[in-house]
Amino acid sequence: MASIFSRIMAGEIPCHPIAENDEFFAFLDINPVATGHVLVVPKQEIDYIFDIDDDALGRMMAFAKRVARAQKAAIPCKRIGLTVMGLEVPHAHIHLAPITQESDLCFSKNKLTPSQEELAVTAGKIRNEYK
Ligand code: 5GP
Repeated sequence: MASIFSRIMAGEIPCHPIAENDEFFAFLDINPVATGHVLVVPKQEIDYIFDIDDDALGRMMAFAKRVARAQKAAIPCKRIGLTVMGLEVPHAHIHLAPITQESDLCFSKNKLTPSQEELAVTAGKIRNEYK
């Protein structure tokens, strides 16, 4: 069965997209740890990020870097934090979240529950900065 992220990329489940290329897709996390929290996902469905071959992993990080620069320009924060877990969704992904202090990147605290309208506004701001 296709992963939830493959279904999002196929357009079966709505999301707030940020950027994409031939290999990777970036969209807002539905329950962010911080406003502007983005997931970067390979289009090829692979569970564990460290099973991705070296060259593709490098390209994934380069894509994430461009997304992070857009987040940093769009969302007030000190920097963009990067986390990899994959405990919930078995489709490799990088979490990119705007942070100002360590606790902003805590996944065990209550996550935010923005409205669709709030997510749309945030996604638009980040997309505008994506180059
Ligand atoms: P992980 O697998 O790294 O533990 O976390 C998966 C992440 O995917 C979580 O932060 C969760 O909020 C996010 N997520 C799960 N389902 C959906 C969804 O349907 N849409 C979006 N945009 N994010 C999702």
